[in-house]
Amino acid sequence: MILNEPLAAELGWSPAYLRTGDGVRLLIGNLIPDGAAPVAQAYAGHQFGGYSPLLGDGRALLLGEVVDAHGRLRDIHLKGSGRTPFARAGDGLAVLGPMLREYVVSEAMDALGVPTTRSLAVTATGRTVPRETMLPGAVLTRVASSHLRVGSFQYAASTGDVGLLRRLTSHALDRHYPQLSGMDNPALALLEAVVAAQASLVAQWMLVGFVHGVMNTDNMTISGETIDYGPCAFMDAFDPAAVYSSIDTGGRYAFGNQPPVAEWNLVRLAEALLPVLHDEPDEAVTLAGKALGAFRPQYNAAWSAGMLAKLGLGDTLAETVTAPLIADLVALMAPSRVDYTSFFRALSTAVDGDGERARGLFLDLAAFDAWAQRWRALDPDPQAMDAANPVYIPRNHLVEEALDAATAGDMGPFERLLDAVTAPYDERPGLERYAAAAPDSFGAYRTYCGT
Ligand code: AMP
Ligand code: MG
Ligand code: MG
Repeated sequence: MILNEPLAAELGWSPAYLRTGDGVRLLIGNLIPDGAAPVAQAYAGHQFGGYSPLLGDGRALLLGEVVDAHGRLRDIHLKGSGRTPFARAGDGLAVLGPMLREYVVSEAMDALGVPTTRSLAVTATGRTVPRETMLPGAVLTRVASSHLRVGSFQYAASTGDVGLLRRLTSHALDRHYPQLSGMDNPALALLEAVVAAQASLVAQWMLVGFVHGVMNTDNMTISGETIDYGPCAFMDAFDPAAVYSSIDTGGRYAFGNQPPVAEWNLVRLAEALLPVLHDEPDEAVTLAGKALGAFRPQYNAAWSAGMLAKLGLGDTLAETVTAPLIADLVALMAPSRVDYTSFFRALSTAVDGDGERARGLFLDLAAFDAWAQRWRALDPDPQAMDAANPVYIPRNHLVEEALDAATAGDMGPFERLLDAVTAPYDERPGLERYAAAAPDSFGAYRTYCGT
């Protein structure tokens, strides 16, 4: 078992309890706490652009909600706990590798400061699960501020029951945006809040180089947390067209497409909300359009502010200076396939030193030098840069190595990787291999829909 002890403490559970008898049974769904009424949630969703009217938790259960140490309500969710009425042909099970992948990537995202569902535990079930080969089974115990998705609203809208849609809207507002609960038009307030939360979230993904891989509307939360770590990956060589998922053959969910895809998904949310936005359909469409129009400026503002932080620059500089500086850097990075994480981390050494570790990543050295001269003239703060640019991310080759070892029974590499990526800004001696790019022999990386 891998247990997240700090998160357990936040939830009010002692690690000693969770590691034995009843605690283990709780983590895998064999013990239902008093008063809990587990449910498999229904939702609809657009998958790769095509609408499925009924998806739902096929192999997951919402065990219940707990109030954490900060007084916040958190969902306790089990992934891989067995078949549900939504399982269709699936076996309802999960295997160890993909559940550990969700654990390490979600915990890395949290440590990077990106809103995300959390991982409380991965528990091996002792059962062997048939996939392409026989693999060890496991259950992931996931913690989220809720599991409401864009697809939850699409499902409610599809029933034609406007009362249900209204109740779901006010539930979502109370849960995630209680400050907006008294608003005249709750559906509009919710739509505006989700637009803002997702604009900020996707900007943060772009800033850390995260590729979600399967941004279907059922995998986009109302809370603004990242959810459903399947074929996700951190980009190594900077490339707006970077795609890792084996099933994303058209590149719909490529790195650089994530902001427009998020906006597309939000249009689907707005469509679902139309009946409760206004009694007059035309008015409803006008309100939806206005709320959606905020996505691009909010995304651009969040991304630009994040880029300025990565470059060690304050937010008081004129945009006429910073916008072209950022755009020119992006244009320089792509043709050189610069290792995104290494570059930004190394760039702070170019403030006072020669910055050769950053400079050497570019093919066109003269162009980089010219850019760096403009940047240096703005007086970047190297300490602020090191606080904004991680040293350690879950690099694809290290994740694969850790999952392969875990599947073969050795948890050592997983634990060491987890250690590195959960303190991502804190450079430590002895962890050099966790900061380094993949060896060329690793080749092009493909992820598979984790099952
Ligand atoms: P995802 O691509 O992870 O968002 O999953 C899409 C849908 O497939 C969800 O409704 C899942 O619950 C369902 N699903 C995935 N794997 C299984 C499985 N092994 N058994 C049953 N349902 C599954
Ligand atoms: Mg999903
Ligand atoms: Mg999934």
